[in-house]
Amino acid sequence: MRLKNDSDKLKYSNVWVVAEVLSGKIQPVTHELLGAARSLADAKKSKVWAVLLGHNVKEQAQLLIPYGADKVLVVDDSRLSGFSDELEARILVRLIKKYKPEILICGATTRGRALIPRVAVVSECGLTADCTELSIDPVSGDFLQTRPAFGGNIMATIRCPFHRPQMATVRPRVMKAPDADFSRNGEIIFEEVTESDASKIKRILEVFHSDDVAVNLADAQIIISGGRAMKGPEGFKMLGRLAARVGGAVGASRAAVDAGWIPYAHQIGQTGQTVQTKVYISCGISGQIQHLVGMQSCNLIIAIDKDPSTPMMQMADIAVVGDLFEIVPGLTEEIVKL
Ligand SMILES: Cc1cc2nc3c(=O)[nH]c(=O)nc-3n(C[C@H](O)[C@H](O)[C@H](O)COP(=O)(O)OP(=O)(O)OC[C@H]3O[C@@H](n4cnc5c(N)ncnc54)[C@H](O)[C@@H]3O)c2cc1C
Repeated sequence: MRLKNDSDKLKYSNVWVVAEVLSGKIQPVTHELLGAARSLADAKKSKVWAVLLGHNVKEQAQLLIPYGADKVLVVDDSRLSGFSDELEARILVRLIKKYKPEILICGATTRGRALIPRVAVVSECGLTADCTELSIDPVSGDFLQTRPAFGGNIMATIRCPFHRPQMATVRPRVMKAPDADFSRNGEIIFEEVTESDASKIKRILEVFHSDDVAVNLADAQIIISGGRAMKGPEGFKMLGRLAARVGGAVGASRAAVDAGWIPYAHQIGQTGQTVQTKVYISCGISGQIQHLVGMQSCNLIIAIDKDPSTPMMQMADIAVVGDLFEIVPGLTEEIVKL
């Protein structure tokens, strides 16, 4: 909603997180967002609310409190059993009008990307997608939403001073989830689906799950990633052998994906996936900003490159200078011996 004047701002308070539940399980992105929301709410001296929409989700509400929620707004209804972005958006818009959150954040997941733009349009608010950093301006109190812009060449900080709520999405694994604190207390508020929410809405009749073997970069603890230096699909098979030895997954730069050496599902970076593994081994990836934004939060970064001056080699915790076609097979052999 557009604010008429400065005093209108005072009508809006608290930081909302739209929770995501898949197959009856709260998704890790929700915990990550609750951690971010907690810092924002502490800076504003306000509260964190989680909004939980779904069917048979009541029991999950309590599980959001240890991660930072002060209140959980639950709408549990059989009409929310499949994912209906239209219905969820109508409910959210109504709840926003009723409770007036100052800030609303949501995962930049397939679901979040379908839902939140609808909410932003109907609520007449802005929306900053794929933020990598969220903070509060200490002077104005505005929500500062930072994301890569102009092809990742600059980081842009966006604010939305004249509309409420201020809305942003964040990709999974960009923020760190806080440790659960089971001593925290919170309140659970139940809301219903109204007739007007549900009128003339498309219904999902059946949900199919694809049998495709997912490239599970999101859950991997170790990723071995290759770039243009891999020279072709054979190079990625070599990385696959190392990954298999250490129980890891194979990632790639866009240059390698665009060359057709490995499918897009492996791409890491601004236009690929964001990962936050314990170990990230980069093999012949120069580390342009568009790649770095997808992996810079990994705990231990090991880079192998012939050129020690690349951005990836400069930011790595361990930089190995040399030819990857000698180093990677040697490393795999040594691991086999262990
Ligand atoms: C809008 C936009 C979005 C983008 N999104 C992404 C994205 O999501 N992900 C992404 O990765 N990129 C993305 N890019 C592309 C990005 O800018 C870079 O072009 C790309 O990441 C470069 O890939 P690379 O590091 O594999 O290749 P290069 O930059 O060519 O680096 C190859 C590296 O391999 C080293 N090397 C060569 N041979 C060997 C060898 N035998 N042994 C050891 N080292 C060797 C070289 O020294 C060099 O450092 C995007 C670009 C744009 C404009």
